[in-house]
Amino acid sequence: MARLELIEVAGNSYVVSGKYGIGVYLDRSSKTAVCIDSGPNTTVIEKVCARISDRGYQILAVVHTHGHAVNHGGNPYLIKRFPNLRIYATHLASYIIENPHLEPLVFDASGGSDTKPDENKENTRALVTDYLPSTDGIFHVHTIPFKIVSLPGHSPGMVGIITPDHVLYCGDALFGPKTLNKQDLLFFDDLKAARRSFKKLSMMKLNAYVLYHGGPYKTVTGLINRHLTLMKDTSTFLEEWIHEQPSTLEQVVQKVMKKYAFEDDLHRYGLTTSIIRSYLKELQQENRIVAKVDNGLLLFSKPAPNT
Ligand SMILES: [Zn+2]
Repeated sequence: MARLELIEVAGNSYVVSGKYGIGVYLDRSSKTAVCIDSGPNTTVIEKVCARISDRGYQILAVVHTHGHAVNHGGNPYLIKRFPNLRIYATHLASYIIENPHLEPLVFDASGGSDTKPDENKENTRALVTDYLPSTDGIFHVHTIPFKIVSLPGHSPGMVGIITPDHVLYCGDALFGPKTLNKQDLLFFDDLKAARRSFKKLSMMKLNAYVLYHGGPYKTVTGLINRHLTLMKDTSTFLEEWIHEQPSTLEQVVQKVMKKYAFEDDLHRYGLTTSIIRSYLKELQQENRIVAKVDNGLLLFSKPAPNT
């Protein structure tokens, strides 16, 4: 893996280069650092720690945007290295962080994570030490004031973190162009909430936005529009298909996996199923499709006229 660097976003707010946009806030007066999420595993966070200590800073805390495995896999290493580390997350995210089997992506026997197993994981359980508010507000790490912005849609209890430099670390509320180019099916578990979060993001005036999968951006309006188009396309595709062919959830998932040429693997299947469920739920709520049980099978189909 290439050397990871700390990229300055604005003032004391940094983002780690590479695949995972881990945030780093350096507090110059106390020489302490706060990480926003901790990466998928020891390998990544070890390099981040090295860059932080090169500058003479100690890590005080890690603040989590949400509870997915790729966001908190660095915690066991951080706790070993900094025994007094504080770990912040919302109540909802903390359930998933502390009980990884609850993560919606966990569908296969190997644990469902797309990251390599971490040999350090077994002996150190990363427990959340401090709860973040799940509604908009202010919280302090030591004396540093951060703002919380609730951004539901991708994962329950997801929040964005604004540093004193007015940089918003928005977790997976939005994905960068690399993800958008290779992935037409975007991972949101509540589409209505996701659209509300997009609207909220588009109305905020900030110096920069940092995406966990995509890095730093000055504005996100263009990205938001691309998300909305992709979501609308998926929704229309599913509606048209179900109108033509009443289908079970498994049949719809199969259709989507074929359409996007997804590989036949358990993780991809689990993820696709979970996303499709959220689309079907929305189509049902909008009376664009109906669900009924026929001979013990749950079938989605076109609504009868005038219902
Ligand atoms: Zn996520």
